[in-house]
Amino acid sequence: MLKSIMSVSLSLAALLMFSATATIAAAAEKPFAIAIHGGAGTIQKAKFTPEREKAYRAKLQEAVETGYAVLDKGGKSLEAVTAAINVLENSPFFNAGKGAVYTHQGQHELDASIMDGKTRQAGAVAGVKHIENPINLARLVMEESVHVMLSGNGAETFATEHGVPLVDNKIFDTEHRYKSLQRAKEKMLKAEKQHKDYQAAHQLLDSEYKVGTVGAVALDKMGNIAAGTSTGGMTNKRFGRIGDSPVIGAGTFAENESCAVSATGHGEYFIRYNVAADICARVKYQGKSIEQAGNEVIHDVLMPVGGTGGVIIIDTKGNISLPFNTKGMYRATKSNSAPTYVAIFKDE
Ligand code: ASP
Repeated sequence: MLKSIMSVSLSLAALLMFSATATIAAAAEKPFAIAIHGGAGTIQKAKFTPEREKAYRAKLQEAVETGYAVLDKGGKSLEAVTAAINVLENSPFFNAGKGAVYTHQGQHELDASIMDGKTRQAGAVAGVKHIENPINLARLVMEESVHVMLSGNGAETFATEHGVPLVDNKIFDTEHRYKSLQRAKEKMLKAEKQHKDYQAAHQLLDSEYKVGTVGAVALDKMGNIAAGTSTGGMTNKRFGRIGDSPVIGAGTFAENESCAVSATGHGEYFIRYNVAADICARVKYQGKSIEQAGNEVIHDVLMPVGGTGGVIIIDTKGNISLPFNTKGMYRATKSNSAPTYVAIFKDE
């Protein structure tokens, strides 16, 4: 009798131990991951010196690892997205914050948005000129206002009311973007002289003038996903032009039931084709994988109509997909089950 009681309690203890180990293992296995992009376009190896390429890769690595560290410590996906984007906004290499492209009038007008996949809360700013890190202001709009999108002066007044300092538009200046503006203007002038209308002339600009945004998507340990995007828009854009990046559903989208997406590319197409939301809708309603849904929209929908660009996508299982239809896309990923991956060109 005593023997059988002992053996029952022993096996009970073994069972408890087993289930404790199983819980620990399950907890350890909970996926968390992040993906970032620094824009898609005519990015060709031949145009890089080895030093320049190394510097871009190092910055992408820094951004993805900054976001990953937030997740690793148990931080929210929203925080990881913001932290990673801040690194890219503060770098002159990318078309967001410092290093943003110029409008036709020689200024910088910045757009950004962020979305929380758990709550479907979202925040966006458009056409701001004096905000050092537009993604942070987008988040503030989401968290501290009753609105989703604020633009121009209204967004900047909201910023000052919430203690965000306004900065001189010149802090976003870089020589290489200024040269791009001059080159874009010359090309447009030439095309217009050949009796092409503005729209046709604009189509002739290489995609390097049109793309270069930054963005991030992340999955945290709590199982929630988020997406964010920040940009200076397109070189030589009309003042007041707003692209897809601050438009929820076009440049940014996140819902836990499907996926989180941040886009980069020719914004007018991404708005008209509702790119980010379309990818997630295919996942949600057609049961497609993020890879399948992303490839369909980027290659089968956008490509034939001339919409150049790419997206980064994540789901709540930690799957990541990075489809683009341009020569390259600055990108990086890191997850608790895979080491840092950094790439610029196709087929890397
Ligand atoms: N999508 C951005 C825009 O149209 C540009 C980019 O991704 O580089 O404003």
